[in-house]
Amino acid sequence: MLLEDKVAVITGGAGENGLGFATARLMASLGARVALLDLERAEPAKAAAQLGAGHMGLVADVTDKASCEAAAQQVLRQYGRIDALVNNAGITQPVKTLEITGADYDRILDVSLRGTLYMSQAVLPAMQARQSGSIVCISSVSAQRGGGIFGGPHYSAAKAGVLGLARAMAREFGGQNIRVNCITPGLIETDITKGKLTPDRKQEIADTIPLARLGSAKDVAGACVFLASELSGYCTGITLDVNGGMLIH
Ligand code: NAD
Repeated sequence: MLLEDKVAVITGGAGENGLGFATARLMASLGARVALLDLERAEPAKAAAQLGAGHMGLVADVTDKASCEAAAQQVLRQYGRIDALVNNAGITQPVKTLEITGADYDRILDVSLRGTLYMSQAVLPAMQARQSGSIVCISSVSAQRGGGIFGGPHYSAAKAGVLGLARAMAREFGGQNIRVNCITPGLIETDITKGKLTPDRKQEIADTIPLARLGSAKDVAGACVFLASELSGYCTGITLDVNGGMLIH
């Protein structure tokens, strides 16, 4: 199987309808052992149990460096290696520039951007020791097109920051056979927008998309598996659009 004997860590992976959990499910079906990291209220252990035996769920807050390090160490103690990290945890907020408070800015940037840095820092030494690894960072089409779909400008900034961070890490760690790539999903139907977009608004958006539909979590899971696996062995620093053609550039 494609991911036989591989160990994958997925942040924000416990939400049953989310991109992270769909990725976990696909990775597990391809032979990987998966560690789902998420906040306590998301009950990561319960989510991991749904993947079957041989997977784990850990409470970890990606905005807290010690929490990221403790989770990575626990995965390494139990599974001995980390082959892939998916930096998926993220939150959004649909507000306009003049409404963004300092606290909003901190909250939104901390989860996506600081979280991507802290969790990458937590797994990189183990990847360096093995001279092998793949880090997949979930950015957003809103980083590329300047928002305008759901999240506010601070969300676009956080996700654009993720692109810059990932590209710089790709350059820094390429010589050690550690690849770092990004996915820029378009509008994917998950809990992040649940109840916040009317069916009419969703239809309006779908009408502007060449593939004429919103994305599903599975659409992004396939891209994560590609980037986490050796199928993408010569890709680093890339941005893989999974947006149905919403942005063609
Ligand atoms: P989701 O809300 O289902 O998933 C986000 C997960 O992150 C949740 O499980 C949540 O508990 C977790 N999380 C939040 N704060 C955390 C923290 N501090 N530490 C650890 N975990 C934390 O939403 P989703 O749509 O599956 O989003 C996954 C990622 O995809 C996010 O980064 C999001 O910004 C990005 N994204 C989503 C879309 C979309 O349309 N759904 C589009 C582009 C990008």
